Amino acid sequence: MGFHDECGVVGIYGAENAAALSYFALTSLQHRGQESAGIAVSDGETIHLHKDMGLVSDVFDKDHFEDLKGSVAVGHVRYATAGGRTIENAQPFLNTFKLGGIALAHNGQLVNYEPLREMLEDSGSTFSSTSDTEVILKLIARSYKKGLEAAVVNTIQLIKGSYALCIMTEDTVIGVRDPNGIRPLCLGKIAGAHNGKDAYILASESCAIDSCNGEFVRDIEPGEIIIINKNGLKSIHLEERTKKQTCIFEYVYFARPDSVIDGIPVQEARYRMGKVLAEESPVEADVVIGVPDSGIGAAQGYARASGIPYVTGIIKNKYIGRTFIAPTQKERENMVFVKLNAIRSDLEGKRVIVIDDSIVRGTTSRRLVQILRRAGAKEVHFRVSSSPVKFPCYLGIDTPSKNELISSTHELEEIRKEIGADSLAFISLEGMIKAFGEDTFCKGCFSGEYPVACARKV
Ligand code: AMP
Repeated sequence: MGFHDECGVVGIYGAENAAALSYFALTSLQHRGQESAGIAVSDGETIHLHKDMGLVSDVFDKDHFEDLKGSVAVGHVRYATAGGRTIENAQPFLNTFKLGGIALAHNGQLVNYEPLREMLEDSGSTFSSTSDTEVILKLIARSYKKGLEAAVVNTIQLIKGSYALCIMTEDTVIGVRDPNGIRPLCLGKIAGAHNGKDAYILASESCAIDSCNGEFVRDIEPGEIIIINKNGLKSIHLEERTKKQTCIFEYVYFARPDSVIDGIPVQEARYRMGKVLAEESPVEADVVIGVPDSGIGAAQGYARASGIPYVTGIIKNKYIGRTFIAPTQKERENMVFVKLNAIRSDLEGKRVIVIDDSIVRGTTSRRLVQILRRAGAKEVHFRVSSSPVKFPCYLGIDTPSKNELISSTHELEEIRKEIGADSLAFISLEGMIKAFGEDTFCKGCFSGEYPVACARKV
């Protein structure tokens, strides 16, 4: 298992075509998970669900929308973190109870999944998956008779870890963000979506709101529960509010550059990290290039700050998934040749600064240096716009052990040799914070300090 991507969630309330809007939103969240996709829709009486393995555009065809009529919906794209890559673990999860149906879409990972599941199994609950999300659903169901709001509040007090949730019943959508706001979740409005009335949308990233031609309203706050139904919007804050510590890797790698998370535009954050990187680790060169997609913002920031011209230099094949899909190390390494190629006319005879957003195993960077040299680069100076990833994440990005992380097992000079670059530098953690101008992030993958205590060995 490798460094895994996470998930994307959406919730729609009060739109004539909630399934179609969810489909658009999920398509724009596709970068957050390519393994499975699903949409649950309520027609007012019953919740209907369609989910399958694959990309959003593969999972849904026209006929599915015939069965997915209604104005309330939740949707999900997934890349496995906890639980295996099987259809049983595809989301949303839907269960029907005495009081009705509940569907749930979750981005994040619970750290107390095992004891909670054991407790539920001891009291008679059965499970159809190995996903931590199903535990959340069963917990809500267990106290549903107290009312939906109380059931969600009770559940939130029991679960620990990272979670951005979109929950629905036949007539309500609920959004929840964990007390540290580790995973992002925002709220938007879609004008005149149902008989002239506005609809609401909850989504992992603001780019999903844009794709529905909606208007961004605000981010859901850490520890906030937002309930949307015929009475409008209601917000509840958990009493025990902890510090905001959004995953910094969202800005480094995951999120789309056109999204704004907690008031910080993702692309702007990348420019600024590139600028600080240029200040910290300058080098004489002829051109700056960025590794698409997530390295480009930082490369442009580096180029601006250093005055060295930015050129395209590398092109990415649009039609293949992320490198990590290849199951073995050998296949992963060769996937880089399929995924990335150099533009010889940009690079031949030049001293090249190449910026990538991160080095995890070192696979991409090693191959990349080869590709650049093959295209005639005279010197290759590797710069990385995040600090060395030394620790696994158990809050939504799964790395089983430290020994797969090259920065955990090698010193800087060893890594430089290993990837074959003429020079190598990472931005410092202080530099990253300087780029943001604030320190409100989970930086666990760089520092080993996590906002939520870890039950698992790292
Ligand atoms: P590696 O090849 O293992 O060193 O991985 C680093 C490369 O993978 C960089 O180009 C990153 O943009 C990208 N990357 C970083 N994190 C992830 C992730 N969670 N899933 C897929 N790719 C990633």
